[in-house]
Amino acid sequence: GVPRSQAFFQQAQERTAHNYHPLPVVVSHAEGAWMTDVDGTRFLDMLAGYSALNFGHGHPELLATAHAQLDQLTLTSRAFVHDRFGEFCAALGDLCGKELVLPMNTGAEAVETAIKVSRKWGYDVKGVEVDRAEIIVATGNFHGRTTTVVGFSDDPDARDGFGPFSPGFTSVPYGDAAALEAAITPNTVAVLIEPIQGEGGVVIPPAGYLRAVREITTRHNVLFAADEIQAGLGRTGRTFACDHEDVVPDLYVLGKALGGGIVPVSAVVADRAVLGVLHPGQHGSTFGGNALACAVGTKVVEMLASGEPQERSQRLGLVLRDRLESLVGRGVLAVRVRGLWAGVDIDPTVGTGRAVCEALLARGVLAKDTHGSTIRLAPPLVVSEEDLHWGLDQLEAVVTGG
Ligand code: PLP
Repeated sequence: GVPRSQAFFQQAQERTAHNYHPLPVVVSHAEGAWMTDVDGTRFLDMLAGYSALNFGHGHPELLATAHAQLDQLTLTSRAFVHDRFGEFCAALGDLCGKELVLPMNTGAEAVETAIKVSRKWGYDVKGVEVDRAEIIVATGNFHGRTTTVVGFSDDPDARDGFGPFSPGFTSVPYGDAAALEAAITPNTVAVLIEPIQGEGGVVIPPAGYLRAVREITTRHNVLFAADEIQAGLGRTGRTFACDHEDVVPDLYVLGKALGGGIVPVSAVVADRAVLGVLHPGQHGSTFGGNALACAVGTKVVEMLASGEPQERSQRLGLVLRDRLESLVGRGVLAVRVRGLWAGVDIDPTVGTGRAVCEALLARGVLAKDTHGSTIRLAPPLVVSEEDLHWGLDQLEAVVTGG
């Protein structure tokens, strides 16, 4: 008979804005690293919700936490304090080695929050003249989809047609510390970068870059805001991607995996000297820091504090690296791997990234292309070594025509 997927897919396409180009698969169930579609076909998830599912689908501890919290309390708004709020802020602050936490919901909101806090810090603490604050960002960045944020993107798809944009952003080449330092003016309040550019194709900056950014920003009295929304929380084999260079930014911008793949949870984490610039009425969110989010977020932090997910990511990351490096020159032009996270540049003679993802889908593997010819691999950190090998067998078969 006709697969049920077809009707679900068609209805979705007919009744939503076409702001995505999804692969033709309709998932109705998932567990661990595996998703099952409405026709009962199983797929290995090699995207993990763009890192939102670092702990896999339906993690038993996270589910139990969410279920229990649903029966107690879900939302109060920040007009009142609930009993899960303080513990979440304390746990996440401790994980980051910072004093204060400001919870929001989506990644883009956390980035907007970091921008507002940095500007306010610039005026209140650094003494920048009103409305003159500048923030330095990097080429190839991806920080979300709000109007302010797409205004400093250099991706025409993200940006074109959505202006006018907010002023006050200067873009410098990613990975070039000298260019970044040269762009600093007395009005510069912050540098906002991804320690590894995820949407850019898992672009890892040259060794020493993050340390240089830390040194330069400190020397010029400029805040260093690290957008760890996709790179952070275990994905790279460390808690934060900045950890690879022993760098501590002034602001951690977190999201995705912080909600355990269950609820949207994001946050800006910083010391009192930074987040302390906000006063009542100056920022907020109805759902930010709600009880369900805090309960799940606290469990996520507890899991990360054990170091186990990071250790898995590191160990399986070596498997990922070995397998992918063996494909260079065999249908793959280049690979970039950090922990259980990889950008794979497909040889154009093999096909587009999209075509490779469609071939993977046919073989039971779900992955997503970015920027035409790159495939990003980010399986849940709970994936078994055996399943990881199987997924990479499928990729190898597709790119080598085997
Ligand atoms: N920042 C980075 C580095 C991201 O990768 C993303 C999402 O892909 C965002 C921000 C935006 O997060 P959200 O989609 O939750 O708004």
